[in-house]
Amino acid sequence: MCGIVGYIGPYQASDFLVEGLRRLEYRGYDSSGVVTIDDGEFTVTKSTGRVDDLVEKLKAHPARGSIGLGHTRWATHGPATEVNAHPHIGGDNVVALVHNGVIENFRELKQQLAERGYYCKSATDTEVVAQLVASEIDARCTAPNGAASNAAFSAADRYSALVDAVQAALSQLRGTYGLAMVFRDWPDVIIVARLGSPLVIGVGDDEHFVASDGSPLVGHTDRIVYLADHELAVVTTHSIRVIHRDEGDVRHKVNRLDIDTTQVELGGFPHYMLKEIFEQPETVTAAIRGRLNRDEATAVFGGLNLTAQQLRSIDRVVLTACGTSWHSALVGEYMIESFARIPVEVEYASELRYRNPPMSPHTVLFAITQSGETIDTLAALREMKRKGHPTLAICNVVGSTIAREADGGIYLHAGPEVGVASTKAYTSQCVVMALLALYFGRMRDLSFDAGLRIIDELAALPKYVEESLECNNETRRIAAKYAACNNFLYLGRQFNFPTALEGALKLKEISYIHAEGYPAAEMKHGPIALVDKHTPSVFIVPQGGVYSKVIANMEEIKARGGPVIAVVDKDDSQAVELADEVIHIPTVPEFLQPIVAAIPLQLLAYHAATFRGCDVDKPRNLAKSVTVE
Ligand code: GLU
Repeated sequence: MCGIVGYIGPYQASDFLVEGLRRLEYRGYDSSGVVTIDDGEFTVTKSTGRVDDLVEKLKAHPARGSIGLGHTRWATHGPATEVNAHPHIGGDNVVALVHNGVIENFRELKQQLAERGYYCKSATDTEVVAQLVASEIDARCTAPNGAASNAAFSAADRYSALVDAVQAALSQLRGTYGLAMVFRDWPDVIIVARLGSPLVIGVGDDEHFVASDGSPLVGHTDRIVYLADHELAVVTTHSIRVIHRDEGDVRHKVNRLDIDTTQVELGGFPHYMLKEIFEQPETVTAAIRGRLNRDEATAVFGGLNLTAQQLRSIDRVVLTACGTSWHSALVGEYMIESFARIPVEVEYASELRYRNPPMSPHTVLFAITQSGETIDTLAALREMKRKGHPTLAICNVVGSTIAREADGGIYLHAGPEVGVASTKAYTSQCVVMALLALYFGRMRDLSFDAGLRIIDELAALPKYVEESLECNNETRRIAAKYAACNNFLYLGRQFNFPTALEGALKLKEISYIHAEGYPAAEMKHGPIALVDKHTPSVFIVPQGGVYSKVIANMEEIKARGGPVIAVVDKDDSQAVELADEVIHIPTVPEFLQPIVAAIPLQLLAYHAATFRGCDVDKPRNLAKSVTVE
């Protein structure tokens, strides 16, 4: 959450800042702001609402200067007003700063700072950091008469005094931060620091970029430095110096950023969400590519980093995640338990991190996250790692914090997901779950033939995903008919219980229609009370072991006058008779149904949201990468 950008180099900083903020807007869009330094003074421009509003302001009053920072906010402390928007200024225009994260001890610090004459104007936790940095700079670099005492220092001393001041301020913070700051009296340097929230530096030719993730760098550079926790970087036009809190100066590694511009552009689609829904035949293919081994009838992974012995001795799998990723974990539970017969537990990361559940020594943790930055998932992974369990990541963003901190992992290779409501990452997560189930199964009792059959079925999946997309027009028609309803139920059983949860979540997230996902039989224990002619029930009812049971559940809804929308497979004969509306998906084995059935539900949510005039890619109150608790 919150997007940070920064630029230092020979060109107008605001050009990169604005473009970068647009790319990062999915991280938060309550307000935005930029600061540049021109002629020794800060120029600060802020706006509530979208980056477009900021751009209008910048057109009227351009922000000149070749060094600057930008921020798009997802408010945690204080409403989305202009005064709360970042950048925040510390002291008498000493520092301008942007922040991603939460400062937990901001109240105490605010009080102490006020006692020393540093007053905060905003309600944010962030401004406290700006005032704190300013107070530390003033304490070191201001002459007794109050004038800035730059002349008294040699150039080298001035920089080390600045770094000392920033480090002193950071040492007083409790909480999480990705911070970027510029200084009126040091107009040739950006300082960035991180603890818990992501930050990267792009290395250009005689210019440097700062960003929350790699997407703003695309088209500018493909060389990227990932900052680690407790690291601070002093960035000038020509240099990067990385200093670790405990280890002092550390050598930084320059990595290659593997994203191209087409992946972060709309490419003719009206929304990223729709583009990403339609990318799924390719993204599912990418998740499978190179991972099926027919000779041994199993899946192969490059980066698990565990020996066959360690993997063989696993007696329990814990899958931890948040939101949509948590639903893919539930799908994984069904898959792994049925193919590999290993007990699986699915835990909300936000619960696991503070719980102390008994874990057998041979428990392995998989942390599932699209961004690889989700703070609760990261904390849960660290907690399990601390206890000595092997930790593995399933994530999409290469080089993300969770990818780096886990012992090993599996990338989704789905390309950047920009739409706030996850679609292609979800189906790729389910594919990886199926691959893992096959892998663990073949380490245990799953026969060679059964393994081979699963491989064939997985290899055919992209074709079925393509076919699922054919329901787009039908789904649009149905969405138009029911978009005015205020409540929906989503019902499915077994493999499609998580599908029901995910369908309901998609609808809630982007159309703001209240929706509940339930195991179809459970609705008798409560939600059936909601059923009336204005409450549609979406049944996910492809052929399978529980088909006739779900049909019976459908009858129960029909008997109470509720409209039924049924997602059925091509060979269906009974559900089509009962349902008011029917969406067809291809016939696939049960374990792959959650993948092909997710697609019409994504489309239903998408079209319902557009009919209701909602901003699909930027749903209210949400942000994509949740880097605050
Ligand atoms: N805590 C800061 C604020 O509310 C930043 C929030 C975030 O990183 O999402 O302004």
